[in-house]
Amino acid sequence: MTKEIKRRGLLLVLSSPSGAGKSTLSRILLQQDENITLSVSMTTRPPRAGEQDGVDYNFVTVEEFETLVAEDGFLEHAKVFDNYYGTPAAPVEAAMAAGRDVLFDIDWQGTQQLSQKVAKDLVRVFILPPSKETLESRLKSRAQDSDEVVAKRMSKANQEISHWAEYDYIIVNDDLEKAEQELFSILRAERLKRERQTGLVQFVHDITGEE
Ligand code: 5GP
Repeated sequence: MTKEIKRRGLLLVLSSPSGAGKSTLSRILLQQDENITLSVSMTTRPPRAGEQDGVDYNFVTVEEFETLVAEDGFLEHAKVFDNYYGTPAAPVEAAMAAGRDVLFDIDWQGTQQLSQKVAKDLVRVFILPPSKETLESRLKSRAQDSDEVVAKRMSKANQEISHWAEYDYIIVNDDLEKAEQELFSILRAERLKRERQTGLVQFVHDITGEE
């Protein structure tokens, strides 16, 4: 009887400037792949219309956030715009222990911190918009945000883009379906990496009969 090959879970980071289609790609990935779970971040920013507590974010007060920082309960945390964002460690550890992959929708600051803490499990993907014009029009079409917020997002977008070279994979999102396929290809290949598969030595031994 052949021995089972198991797989160690991986941590997939998706970063992009806002307006590059990251949320859409994350949603598709989560809908279509049963083995990946979203890491729900904690934030002190107020919920936007339609956002649900515990689904989009865990919305907390500054005091609650600072308490978890003091308890070393975050894998990473950062201040973005005027708010705090962070990745609680416990749910990620639980998912990994269950052999599941975890998806992170975090910025470059969080990615740098994760790179130092969990480098070997990390797969970093950066999503770029196809052009400046597309980015600008996507940012402006978010009607909920004021002009001031849009201007601030533009400059933050450029700042976020300046970190593209710190990522393992780059996807230019000029066609959603193509970007989707590219993201699935990355995930598929990364799951097959030798170091992520356990039990291979025994498996090969059973085939060849050699040590
Ligand atoms: P938004 O307020 O538009 O939901 O997110 C603003 C930025 O914060 C995005 O670039 C998003 O990727 C980033 N962000 C969301 N959650 C986290 C987190 O847990 N950690 C870090 N470092 N950044 C986050």
